[in-house]
Amino acid sequence: MPSSVTGVIQDLERILLTPAQISARVDAMAARLNAELTGKVVTVVALMDGGLFFVADLLRKLEMPVRLYTLSASSYQGGTATTGEVKVSWPANFDIHGQDVLLLDDILDTGLTLSAISERLLAQQPASLRTCVLLSKRRQRLSHVALDDAGFEIDDEFVVGYGMDYQGRFRNLPCIGILNPNPAS
Ligand code: 5GP
Ligand code: MG
Repeated sequence: MPSSVTGVIQDLERILLTPAQISARVDAMAARLNAELTGKVVTVVALMDGGLFFVADLLRKLEMPVRLYTLSASSYQGGTATTGEVKVSWPANFDIHGQDVLLLDDILDTGLTLSAISERLLAQQPASLRTCVLLSKRRQRLSHVALDDAGFEIDDEFVVGYGMDYQGRFRNLPCIGILNPNPAS
């Protein structure tokens, strides 16, 4: 790994998922979607910024024609606990009526983000809606989300890397890890 990345990894208490583990699981998720959605044109609705690498890696493994909308959603505003209020910026031309939709996010935690977004998506009457996340936290949800696939179930700890940040940092880590409570840098 480049020395700049090794420096950032010192800020981790431990590595939870290695790049190889993530890649193998994303490949398996894509294979399942390829089997289930053969012959369809899929409209992907991808949540940014945390989903950046998951979405980029998964989409390149999908074999059907794909349209892409990216949404910016935030409920954390820099900390490690949700504020409960979900802010979403919707593209002006957003229209999924009658389409086969795949909603993608990095991590399912309280469920508030995905349930708020799913409600808005279903209001537009898509032909179908699938929801997949890379990580699902083992914890009580504040809002129910009908999940079709989750890459990994993880404990209720704050994770960074592979797109996910803490105060804007650590997104570029190729692995997923638990942050050191007293980061050196
Ligand atoms: P929820 O609305 O389900 O509580 O939270 C979903 C969003 O919160 C995720 O899309 C993600 O952006 C953020 N989030 C939840 N848990 C974590 C975490 O452990 N680390 C980071 N970096 N973001 C998280
Ligand atoms: Mg997110």
